[in-house]
This record gives sequence, structure tokens and C-alpha cells, in this order.
Amino acid sequence: MANGLRVLNLAEARFECTFGRGCEGICCRNGRPPLHAGDEQRIRNHLAQFVPLMRAEARALLLREGFLTRRKKSGLFTVRVVAGWCIFFHNGCVLEQAGRMEGDRLLYKPVECALFPLEQNARGDWFVRQKDYGREDWDLPCLDPATSGQAAAESLREELALVERMESGLAPERFPLRQS
Ligand code: SF4
Repeated sequence: MANGLRVLNLAEARFECTFGRGCEGICCRNGRPPLHAGDEQRIRNHLAQFVPLMRAEARALLLREGFLTRRKKSGLFTVRVVAGWCIFFHNGCVLEQAGRMEGDRLLYKPVECALFPLEQNARGDWFVRQKDYGREDWDLPCLDPATSGQAAAESLREELALVERMESGLAPERFPLRQS
């Protein structure tokens, strides 16, 4: 349990994001996160804040074709990729950089990116994605408990707090949680 939230493997899970300290942001390379209606609307509403932070080639594509592809994941349209990286990637996540300026780095991120590596299974139980746990097939060093430097319960405090807000109905702009 984390502040009342049940996360199946939180006690033993380890996770440390090493972006800028060894990792160049692999999770944003060809990541194509799916956007829920709330994610899409939030990004559209604040697009003017993100555009100046974007790569020139990403900005050009955004103005020409928008930030969504017609490709779907889990029934939802996905974010465009430019030159192998998420359209919102520029020395890190542009949406995260904009959020940090307002004191909340998760504020504008699509829920799938904001919660990573937290996920719900088919029964609605939350778990931390870890190498060799469940059906994990993404070979990211940060998901390997043998090499990750921090307890997930510590490193994911903000993500866990967001899940709690979502579970409590206090983040209605986020996607509806899967029912257990
Ligand atoms: S979450 Fe993992 S893959 Fe993504 S930037 Fe951080 S260390 Fe890299």
C-alpha cells in the first residue's frame, strides 16, 4: 500500500529515471503514446506554450499535420514521431518542461507517459512495470530492478500521487480508470 493505494509489487519494485545521466530518453523514441480525450484537449488548449520548445522539424510537421497520427493503439489515436522521436521530444519531453515551469512536471503529459512505469492489469490492479514481471517485454535498463538505483515507492511519489488523485476522482481531466 502507498498512502492507501494498492500497488501489487511496490514493496520490491525498483525504478530510477536516468534521463540526462546516461539515458537519452529511450522511452520517447518511437514511443507513440495513445491519447485519451482529456489528454488531447489539454495539449490543444496549451499548444502555444509547447511550440516554442519544440524541434524546428517537429514544429513544421505540427503546423502542417497536427500532433496526432491516424494510427490507433488500444482504440486511441497516437502521437506523431519525427525523425525517430516523439514530436514533443526536444532534449527531453517538451510537455514535461512546460509543466515544470508551472511547478508540476506531470501537468501536461499524456496519462500513459505521466504514469510510466505504473500500469493497471486486466483486473484493474496497479503494478510497477519491471523486467521479468508479468508480461513485461520492454528491455529498458530503468525497468531492471537489478540495476535501478531507487525504490519505486520513493522515486515514483509524484506518479503514485497522481494515481491516487485519479482514483479519488480529483483528476477528471485524466482518463477514466479501468474498473476492477
Ligand atoms: S523513464 Fe527510463 S527510458 Fe525513459 S528517460 Fe527515464 S531512464 Fe530513460
